[in-house]
Amino acid sequence: MQKFRKIGVLTSGGDAPGMNAAIRAVTLAAEVNGVDVVAIYDGYQGLMEGNVHDISAKDVSGVIRIGGTFLHSARSPEFMLEEGMQRAIATCKKHGIDGIVAIGGDGTFRGATDLTLRGIPCIGIPGTIDNDVTASDSTIGYDTALKTTVTMIDCLRDTCESHARCNVVEVMGRHAGYIALESAIATGAEAVIIKEIPHDEDAIIKRIADLKANGKRSFIIVVSEGLGNYGETLAPKIEAFTGVETRFARFAHVVRGGVPTVADRVMATQMGAKAVELLLAGKSNLVVCKRNGKIVSEEIRYALTVDRMFKGKLKDGDLDTFSEEQIESMKALCELRTKEIRRLYDLVDKVAK
Ligand code: ATP
Repeated sequence: MQKFRKIGVLTSGGDAPGMNAAIRAVTLAAEVNGVDVVAIYDGYQGLMEGNVHDISAKDVSGVIRIGGTFLHSARSPEFMLEEGMQRAIATCKKHGIDGIVAIGGDGTFRGATDLTLRGIPCIGIPGTIDNDVTASDSTIGYDTALKTTVTMIDCLRDTCESHARCNVVEVMGRHAGYIALESAIATGAEAVIIKEIPHDEDAIIKRIADLKANGKRSFIIVVSEGLGNYGETLAPKIEAFTGVETRFARFAHVVRGGVPTVADRVMATQMGAKAVELLLAGKSNLVVCKRNGKIVSEEIRYALTVDRMFKGKLKDGDLDTFSEEQIESMKALCELRTKEIRRLYDLVDKVAK
């Protein structure tokens, strides 16, 4: 087994609160094991450009409570080309990087696989506010983004109540409606609209009219970002039909920042420590996941495939290299997620009064 002397850590793709906690955990867990750590700035772009610097415990002191990522993040199309990949590998050789912990989303994991296949063992950690890594029950940043979203909707509710208004709120989640679903439940929203489940627009508008007739003054409709500009077009329709003054708000990137919650800090720390443990045990091409309260790992190819299965985007041959048992477990995971989303969606309707 390879003797690890130096681990690189990077953050890539969209940033997420709690990434710093994961970087800190990687740094400290490596140090405890007598392994050096280099910080790779600007994700894979920085790896190609040699933007790497030694870090140690003192450099990560205090970062656990800071949002964003102090290693910065970047999207790097050049890295996806063989030439870019070779530049990245040259940086690893030059700095003696024996393995990398890559924190990000599915694109980041694809890059980690490409590096692993070219001799640089990598472990992925799911850092994305969208909670859209099907193989993991949660992702770093989701809990904080949800908390921020709820705080902001609560603020809108106050002013809607004062002025007898409706607010259609678009919340983050390009590919997954989790933030929409859970924030809708937590704020007592009158309806939630997500990409995953078809909705009845007329029924939602009628619900607002009925609730208004019953004396209700304020209304919140949560719409997931995945539906494009739908929320913006819905607001005037609600106003026209119900006579309730209706505004549209888009929270966008503001919920990507902020102080990470306890849950995100704890999970990021567990995942960072686990990633180092896996690398030092000679493992690679894995993504650290949380499943049923435990920190586990899955092959990256499994995690990417189960994501495609969940989104109905499997291509011919995608399942060919998996065992029957693996395919069954993927199907079970997808079914679990689908049911979970349906349960949350139905709950919003059940308590909309
Ligand atoms: P988010 O969920 O926030 O979008 P992500 O990790 O999926 O995070 P991407 O922009 O898709 O974000 O990917 C991050 C980086 O990973 C890309 O800029 C690119 O450098 C690398 N990457 C993406 N896809 C691939 C791929 N197919 N092969 C190699 N590298 C990739």
